[in-house]
Amino acid sequence: MDEEGSAKKLDATRPDDWSGKDRRGAGGWDEVLATEAHLVAPGAEWRSELYRVAQEQFERAADLLGLEPELRSRLLEPRRALVVNFPVRRDSGVVEEFTGYRVQHTLAVGPAKGGIRFAPGVSLGECAALALWMTFKCALLELPFGGAKGGVRCDPNRLSEGEAERIIRRYAAEITPIIGPDRDIGAPDMATGEREMAWFMDTYSQAVGQAVPEIVTGKPAVLGGTEGRRAATGLGVVFALEAALERLEWELPGQRVVIQGFGKVGSVIAVELARRGAKVVGLTDVAGGIVNEEGIDLESLSAWVAEHGFIRGFPGGEKVGRRDLLTTPCDLLIPAALERQITEENAGEIDCRMVVEAANGPTTPEADAILAERSIPVLPDVLANGGGVTVSYYEWVQDVQREMWSVEAIAGRLERTMRAGMDRVLAASERYGTDWRTAAQALAIERVAEASRLRAIYP
Ligand code: NAD
Repeated sequence: MDEEGSAKKLDATRPDDWSGKDRRGAGGWDEVLATEAHLVAPGAEWRSELYRVAQEQFERAADLLGLEPELRSRLLEPRRALVVNFPVRRDSGVVEEFTGYRVQHTLAVGPAKGGIRFAPGVSLGECAALALWMTFKCALLELPFGGAKGGVRCDPNRLSEGEAERIIRRYAAEITPIIGPDRDIGAPDMATGEREMAWFMDTYSQAVGQAVPEIVTGKPAVLGGTEGRRAATGLGVVFALEAALERLEWELPGQRVVIQGFGKVGSVIAVELARRGAKVVGLTDVAGGIVNEEGIDLESLSAWVAEHGFIRGFPGGEKVGRRDLLTTPCDLLIPAALERQITEENAGEIDCRMVVEAANGPTTPEADAILAERSIPVLPDVLANGGGVTVSYYEWVQDVQREMWSVEAIAGRLERTMRAGMDRVLAASERYGTDWRTAAQALAIERVAEASRLRAIYP
């Protein structure tokens, strides 16, 4: 069938094309529908490299559990997704079209919960994978949320403050039909923070006519944010790591640490680990990194980044490329930037004793297999970075109940939650005789599966 022919046949504005005669006749709808192009494989909507990673991990854990076929696609595929296109006026006066997404993975146990990112690679498939992992985090840490994820495809390094505000506000307005404090609650993620959450909260509140702080977490404290949220994800990584190291009988003081990413998560991990006696010997951000065997002076580096925006040019270490940093010799390698960083290409050269996944999805299944063969354990993202959503839950509870908890109370609760999560994963890993990632995901799947079975099928 030639291009021109199919364009004509698919022209729904021509009444002839909808007539029974045309549908049955040569080149009509029956023929169109019979072509292979119209056979859509299950899950095709989410197809992306990151979703493949999430799916392979899911299948592995589901196989281990012997999960019934009926529940597999129900638990794997998102319940609901919205794609929005909207115009935003740039500072230059030019109007540009942006695409945003919101994916709600499961609604089985409570509202959906998940971050909102600004990044050039945001897509439906990426959000679907990240929403699935959010479901796993919430289930593993026993929070009453399902997973969600969203974002706007853009280059955050090229946005002025005014442009970022117009984008997040319009995005919030576009997804308002499917969100709500009891339906779907947002949070910061890559390149979004308190400032964006304040604009998001204001936009939603304007739409409903009253202040609704509980529509997002990670807000400034004065708008109902919680003090401990800013450091929560990084601190949670450190608490989970401490519990793992205790079990392995490794001392944290003296461990050499390399971290990819020096944003909201990576910077907190660096400071907290150094405070506990570890030595941060390598760091990178999007513009490049540095190494220093003696340990990087984090106070000076933070001041440098606050002034210059990036690590690049910092005099307290030797320059290193951002990908080369991953193969720098160390004890703890902590990806805290973006997904698919440890792959089959570099997994053989990774020179560390443990990988700690502060970022979401930084290790591909192929790399997982190589690291396992090399006996390098991976502290998986669904547990390691779950401190963010845990403190987001505390923030939401405080907002809903109009309460305020102290920073100490929040940090203490977070530590207990992360340690309990790590203990459950270690026990499941022994019980199933499997790696930490598969054990963590099996625990999470088991919990969501139980909820889904109990709610049964509607109608
Ligand atoms: P952020 O935007 O604050 O920081 C990201 C950092 O990564 C920046 O330093 C940036 O320069 C760096 N970076 C970007 N691209 C890079 C590249 N190609 N190579 C090296 N560095 C690069 O984001 P964040 O909130 O710190 O999030 C980091 C990771 O943690 C993401 O995977 C995110 O999904 C995950 N995460 C964040 C939270 C949270 O509460 N913020 C919670 C759970 C998981």
